[in-house]
Amino acid sequence: MRRARSRQSLVATACLAILIAAMSILPTNPAAANPVPSGNIAVTVKILRWSDQASYPFTVNQVRDTLFDGAQNTSDYFTALTNGDSALVEVTPIEQIPSVHASTDPAVINCDPDAFLSEVPPVPPGERLIVITPHMSSCPGNGLGDIPGTQVFINGVLNWRLMAHELLHNQGLNHAGACTSINAAGDCSGNSYGDPFDVMGASTGASAGFPSAFNLMLLEEIASPAQTPDITSDGVYKLKPANQPGSGVRLLAIPRPGGQYEYLILETRVKRAYDNFRSSGSRLYHGVSVRLASLNDSPNGISTLLVPANPKASTSSDRTSWPLGTCEVYKDGRSGASIRLLTIDSGIAKVQVAVNGHRLKNRAECQKTKPKAHAKIAGSTLKVSGKKLKFSVKCSAGKGPCKGKIVIKHGKKTVAKGSYKVKAKHKAKVKAKLTAKGKKVVKKGKPKKLKVFLKPKGGGKNVSKKLKVR
Ligand SMILES: [Zn+2]
Repeated sequence: MRRARSRQSLVATACLAILIAAMSILPTNPAAANPVPSGNIAVTVKILRWSDQASYPFTVNQVRDTLFDGAQNTSDYFTALTNGDSALVEVTPIEQIPSVHASTDPAVINCDPDAFLSEVPPVPPGERLIVITPHMSSCPGNGLGDIPGTQVFINGVLNWRLMAHELLHNQGLNHAGACTSINAAGDCSGNSYGDPFDVMGASTGASAGFPSAFNLMLLEEIASPAQTPDITSDGVYKLKPANQPGSGVRLLAIPRPGGQYEYLILETRVKRAYDNFRSSGSRLYHGVSVRLASLNDSPNGISTLLVPANPKASTSSDRTSWPLGTCEVYKDGRSGASIRLLTIDSGIAKVQVAVNGHRLKNRAECQKTKPKAHAKIAGSTLKVSGKKLKFSVKCSAGKGPCKGKIVIKHGKKTVAKGSYKVKAKHKAKVKAKLTAKGKKVVKKGKPKKLKVFLKPKGGGKNVSKKLKVR
C-alpha cells in the first residue's frame, strides 16, 4: 500500500474553526500525515481562567504530570509510539494566566477556541502550543487540534490520551471510527469516535492505545511499503504486531475498488506499554482487527472504520469483541475477499486470504473435528420378545454412527448380550440375545427391572439405565 507524500504544507494554515473535536466534520480531508518529529518536541502550555473568576481549571503540576511526569504521560506515549525517537519537552515553563475574556463574553458562551489561542503569544515555528481553558459546555468536545498544525485547545478536560489525540491531529491524523451499519458489500456508515483501540477513536478515559496500523503507516512509523503489502492473490500471509518496531509485514491491505473506503486493512497487536488497556486474552491481542480505510479522502474526517469481523458480532455488539478470532472467517462483499485467521503465535498471525470471490481452501490448522455422536438409552421399558430383549437407543448429532456392545444384567448375572448401531441424530430399536442364564431367569418369571449397559466401540463413556420389563 503506497500513500501519497504528506500534503501538510498545502493546508498548514487550516483554521481551528473547522478542526476536529467531538463533532468536527470535514467534507473531504486527504489522508495525509507527517511523521512525528525526531528528538524533542517543544511544548508550551498556558492554563487560562476567566477574568471574572478566581480559580484555574488545573494546577501547573496537574498539567505537567499529564504531559511529562505522571506514571503514564503523553510524552512517554510519544516515546513508545516512535520507539524511543521522540519526546515532549517543557521548554517554556507551564503558566497559569488570566484570560482577557470573562465567563459572560460571547467567546466563552459560544465557544470560540480561536479567541483563546490568539490571546497568548505565538510559539516559534516547530513548537507546539496548548491552551487549556475552564470547561465550556458550549464546545462540541473536549479538545481541538490543527490537522495538521501546531496548536491544541483543551476544553477543561485533562488526560494523557486526550493530549496525545490532539497532538496527533497536529501530525495530520483524522478520526478513527467504527461501522454503525454495514451492508452486503461490506460498506459501512460510520461514526467518528467509534474505534475503541485507536487513540484517534476513543481518547478519553481508560481506553485506546496506539493508533491503528494504517495510522502508524501515515505517521511513517511503519515506513516501508514492503511492510504494508497490497493483497491481490490467494495465499497465507504472516502478519507481525503493528505496535512493535522492526521489520516484517505489519498490515495487509486488500483493495476494494469502487468503495468509499478503498482498502480493507488487517492488523494484529501485542500487549505492551501504552497499548495495554485490554486483558491479555482479548481479541485485540489474540485476533486480527479489520478496518475499512481511505487514502484518498476521509469521508467526514474519518480515515478508518473498525468492522465487526467476528462472525458472532454485529454493529450493536461491544466493539472490543469485533476482531476476527482464530479459525473465524470474514467476507468482504465489495472486494470479494474472504479472510480467515489460521493461527496466532507469539503475536504473529497467519492469515489466509482468498480474493475475487474465490473459496478459502481447507487448512489443517482450522479443520474442526466434529465431536463424536454419543448413544443414550431411550424410553423406560424393555420388551422380552422370544429369545431377545428389545429397547430403544438414541444417537446424538455429531460424527456417527453410535455403535458398540450391549450387556443386560439382572443383579450380577449377565442375562443378555448384543450389539447396537444407530445413525447420528436417529433413534432405533436394538436387540440383545438372552444368555443361557438369561433364559432361566425369564422362564422363572419376568424380573421387574433389568439394567442395560451400552459400551461404545472404540472407547467413550459407558451408558447404563434400569429399564422396566414388559
Ligand atoms: Zn479529534
